[in-house]
Amino acid sequence: MKILVINAGSSSLKYQLIDMENESVIAKGICERIGIEGSNLVHKANGKETKYEQAMPDHTVAIKMVIDALTDQEVGVLSSLDEIGAIGHRVVGSGEYFTKTTLVTPEALETLKKTYEFAPIHNPANVMGIMACMEAMPGKSNVAVFDTAFHSTMPDEAKLYAIDYQDYQDYKVRRYGAHGTSHKYVSQEAIKYCDAEGKDFKIVTLHLGGGSSISAVKNGICIDTSMGFTPLAGVPMGTRSGDIDPSAAKFLAEKKGMTFDETINYLNKKCGVMGVSGVSSDFRDLQQATEAGNYRAELAVNLFAYNVKKYIGAYTVAMGGLDCLVFTAGIGENSAFTRARILKGLECLGVEFDAEKNKQRSSSIMEITGENSKVRVLVIPTNEELMIARETLALC
Ligand code: ADP
Repeated sequence: MKILVINAGSSSLKYQLIDMENESVIAKGICERIGIEGSNLVHKANGKETKYEQAMPDHTVAIKMVIDALTDQEVGVLSSLDEIGAIGHRVVGSGEYFTKTTLVTPEALETLKKTYEFAPIHNPANVMGIMACMEAMPGKSNVAVFDTAFHSTMPDEAKLYAIDYQDYQDYKVRRYGAHGTSHKYVSQEAIKYCDAEGKDFKIVTLHLGGGSSISAVKNGICIDTSMGFTPLAGVPMGTRSGDIDPSAAKFLAEKKGMTFDETINYLNKKCGVMGVSGVSSDFRDLQQATEAGNYRAELAVNLFAYNVKKYIGAYTVAMGGLDCLVFTAGIGENSAFTRARILKGLECLGVEFDAEKNKQRSSSIMEITGENSKVRVLVIPTNEELMIARETLALC
């Protein structure tokens, strides 16, 4: 079966057409500037890139352009839309309305609209993408795959904040986590790679990118994750502060004359390793500056690595042990420098890594476990689109 995977943002729409026979990408592309002047679609298939410049006033027009590109006589890869078996959509937030991948029925669509307050920037756009596909390809199954679903198995003591329980019940304020599709994909790949299916196997997955989150995955089930009600929580990130005492935020707001919204914006956009270093949010720049002797750049990297280490320790205790560490996403997959700073000092947990293997690069799974390590250390490229396609296939 061929599955179309859609990741719709407010002004962009990314897609991949995946052949589930061999899990290969047949075509992919991105529509940009939807609803804005200068919109365009870049479509890639058969090693060729084609750019279409055409007005895209809304997501329905964008989807129609994607369909035209996929079925185009010259650059297309489908003879007819009948070849698409189902459509899988990335949906960011679920609140407590959804806990797993869901077929979008008319009732589910109505419920999806209630989730907007839990992801106000992303979910309305995700739902626009679903509705555009329903309109442009009537009769096809649309499946919603939630970023939060993998974390829905967290036990109450991990997912709840210590606030008045009645407030949790009334407003559903709790930890939901993020990057769940990535954590699920890399943990499943690690289980396969280590031949640990059905075995007692405890993994800490480290999704370290522009946004970073860490999960504890015990026997394939997520039992804790570092992000919270929103993706501002957990370890420091590119520009996000991660965990901070709310009273410190109030103190800063008063000193800097910021409103509540401005303070949240400051914590999201002006903090993290960018704020600490004053150099960059990008770990490539931070490595360069550190090697050139910049104190604040090195401090930012060390602050990041130290906080990641603390989560590894905490989650080892939460799971009652550790069998495998998995690095993924932009930093996790590419920055040997940052991986080394995280891994040094974890010997007390039985973690040792091979410094030479750590310096290698690979587009597939790379094992960097040290000779005497009790814990496997893996670098696994994430593939959220493939995970969405697998989840969609499983439902259709
Ligand atoms: P996003 O959360 O934006 O999807 P990514 O997972 O693509 O983020 O990660 C982007 C980040 O990964 C960059 O900001 C940079 O810090 C880091 N990164 C990407 N490539 C490299 C590299 N070769 N070396 C070090 N860091 C890298």
